[in-house]
Amino acid sequence: MTKRDLLPLAFGEGILSLPFSQGKRSGLRGCAERYAYFLHPKAHSTRSSFRRTPESSPNTPCEAPGIKDAVSFGRIFKLDSGVRRNDGKARIGMAAAVKYLALAALCVFTTAAHASKDHPVIGFSIDDLRLERWAHDRDYFVAAATKLGATVYVQSADASEERQVAQLENLIARRVDVLVIVPFNSKVLSNVVAEAEQNGIKVISYDRLILNANVDAYITFDNERVGELQAQGVLDRAPKGNYFLLGGSPTDNNAKIIRQGQMKVLQPAIDNGAIKIVGQQWTPDWDASKALRIVEDALTANANNIQGVVASNDGTAGGAVQALAAQGLAGEVPVSGQDADLAAVKRVIDGTQAMTVYKPIKKIATEAAQLAVQLVRNEQPHYTTTLNNGTKDVDTVLLTPILLTQKNVDVVIQDGFYTHDQVYGHGADKP
Ligand code: BGC
Repeated sequence: MTKRDLLPLAFGEGILSLPFSQGKRSGLRGCAERYAYFLHPKAHSTRSSFRRTPESSPNTPCEAPGIKDAVSFGRIFKLDSGVRRNDGKARIGMAAAVKYLALAALCVFTTAAHASKDHPVIGFSIDDLRLERWAHDRDYFVAAATKLGATVYVQSADASEERQVAQLENLIARRVDVLVIVPFNSKVLSNVVAEAEQNGIKVISYDRLILNANVDAYITFDNERVGELQAQGVLDRAPKGNYFLLGGSPTDNNAKIIRQGQMKVLQPAIDNGAIKIVGQQWTPDWDASKALRIVEDALTANANNIQGVVASNDGTAGGAVQALAAQGLAGEVPVSGQDADLAAVKRVIDGTQAMTVYKPIKKIATEAAQLAVQLVRNEQPHYTTTLNNGTKDVDTVLLTPILLTQKNVDVVIQDGFYTHDQVYGHGADKP
């Protein structure tokens, strides 16, 4: 296989990345690992999926992104020679090693240059595009970036830590100029961010802060404020009684900041005995069906004696409302949320959800696209503050979230986020 044969692979959809999230390796070696996939004649010959490496999470499917025929890990490097050892190094057979070294040189060549500053290439890595909120972010972001002359490659990790690392490595291999990342797990991206940095790629943390990594910038809504609005929204409707705290994903730094905001508001009411927290749980992956089960269990454990549910977003609020409805309690027990998902806006109107938080997605997406382009062009962005991520004080753009209740729900229509028909149904009278 010649360099010419390989180049289209380097730029096309077919690049595969190893789903390694652990261990250190140099950019050069990582790059060679990636290209090594294409050298094996059987690489495209099977529809089987990646084998999991022994240390990967049992729940994580390891199918790689961007390739139609997934390849079997074991078949690429025979004798499981590509499998990661526990010490974080990859084992590799002799034949593969020769090709591996030959490719290292090519990697240097293919990763040296970036797109022109007039037409930056942006990699947008999103935790989970299956959630309504992130599809809005993607659409606004791509529209804004395109207007600024940029190209965007979007990837969804579908709530998989390893898939996200693999996708990021893929984007690095595609020589993007800047990565914009919504991390699934805020704590595991240090290595891949370092790899981006070594390759001259800027990194922006989008909505969720990547911890312990040298990111260049962060843009988000004030998550503590989101939590305050949620707790206040429930407290206004149920000033006394038993409360259940339905947290977000335990891997999402935002979930914790939101909880801090909630507790700022709830603590005085706990201290003066007005309310009592009878249970609290994080919801893995912010998954609505898991939230449903959590709240069902909480209702059972408390014989339905719950007066307020502080849910951290609209997806989980939906699960909570469903659990309450099964007990004839929907609308009786206030539930909070955030995102102004369409279903949640409708629940706010019909009274089964006390409030949601509208975070103008167009604003964060548009500003993030601008930020990305500015970083590539070495222009000075306008930051509003800094937030510490364990490694540094990260330059941050902090945006303001908006409380949405029955009283002002039409803000989402006035803002162009939804049409009147979407919210009220076709042919409904304007309120
Ligand atoms: C975001 C929320 C979103 C949640 C689930 C959080 O980090 O801030 O807007 O609902 O993730 O995707």
